[in-house]
Amino acid sequence: MKEYKGSCHCGSIIFTFQGPDIDSGLRCNCSICRRKGATMTKFTVAPTEISIDVKNDALATYEFGSRVAKHHFCSKCGIYPFHQTLRKPGHYRINIGCLEGIDSSNLPFEVFDGASI
Ligand SMILES: [Zn+2]
Repeated sequence: MKEYKGSCHCGSIIFTFQGPDIDSGLRCNCSICRRKGATMTKFTVAPTEISIDVKNDALATYEFGSRVAKHHFCSKCGIYPFHQTLRKPGHYRINIGCLEGIDSSNLPFEVFDGASI
């Protein structure tokens, strides 16, 4: 397991977590993911394995449909650093583009067919 560090753009949300090596990512074609276009971690992170530090009350959450998935974003800079998943409620997938030291634009990715759920 590796220690990863990430943030939103303005730095109001900073987070660290443990996870396996990231050599590919996951994208999804559901109504919200296709609009965001982010490449997410294929693995999920348990709530006990992520530390999230929020300044200025910046962490906002968007929900729709079943309201199980929690789409978190920074209310200052608009960046979407992670969400809590539909398939494993409470557990996080991380936006790889928010992580230090990883070029998310060069990673291969799989596509999850979230639109068909
Ligand atoms: Zn921010």
